[in-house]
Amino acid sequence: MSSGLRVDVFSVFPELVDGALSASIIGRARQNSQIDLRLHDPRDHATDAHRSIDDSPFGGGAGMVMRPDVLAASIRETDPPRPLLAMTPSGATFDQAMARELAAGGGFSLLCGRYEGIDQRVLDSVVDAEVSIGDYVLAGGEVAAAVIIEAVGRLVPGVLGNADSIEDESFATGLLEYPHYTRPADFEGAEVPPILLSGNHGAVDRWRYAMSLRRTVERRPDLIDARGGLSPDDEADLAWLAALDR
Ligand code: SAH
Repeated sequence: MSSGLRVDVFSVFPELVDGALSASIIGRARQNSQIDLRLHDPRDHATDAHRSIDDSPFGGGAGMVMRPDVLAASIRETDPPRPLLAMTPSGATFDQAMARELAAGGGFSLLCGRYEGIDQRVLDSVVDAEVSIGDYVLAGGEVAAAVIIEAVGRLVPGVLGNADSIEDESFATGLLEYPHYTRPADFEGAEVPPILLSGNHGAVDRWRYAMSLRRTVERRPDLIDARGGLSPDDEADLAWLAALDR
């Protein structure tokens, strides 16, 4: 039936993931079956009277750890699309390149931790990799999973109305995006760069590219290094932009 991107999420708070992905672009993509999001609550596989999904850590200490048997039972019953990625602050940092890779595949799955985290044996043998969304600690993996699904989902063909918007946006070319302007042309005395009103599409394209370069040089020199530095053409575009400013 659906030919959309299948994404399975394992979470003891599935409503958090569902809520974050119910409106706007991703909500519409789910309704149109472009994204087939399936939520699974590992608590359905708990075996004791209290339906426990966590227990105290071996070795002592604060907090609770998610039980490997309950998580594994939930995952194995589902046989979810791979890769199955666990949300953890210790994983590889999610970025646009990973988003593109996941969007190009046939589907993927995310396992959300809570409490102190997930029993290491699940990370070692049931999941395929660990992914972090950045160097900070959340209370659970659900918001991280929503971040990943939103970033990947908008790259699925047809999800965004205008495919061009994916091609020039930040990181698509290894550069940050150029600035945008809309009406009014004069906002509280701040004017729009005149070249954008010139009607000269070649000049507008050159300006946008040069502004992307300039911003990236100023704000994210690491991205310029990653592209192997500035080419002679890049240097010429930056000099052209500097001359426009004078
Ligand atoms: N004790 C852990 C943190 C647990 S936070 C540690 O020090 O590493 C509880 C859960 O939130 C984690 O299991 C993970 O699923 C999720 N989480 C927290 N921060 C995250 C981040 N930066 N990226 C992805 N998931 C995160």
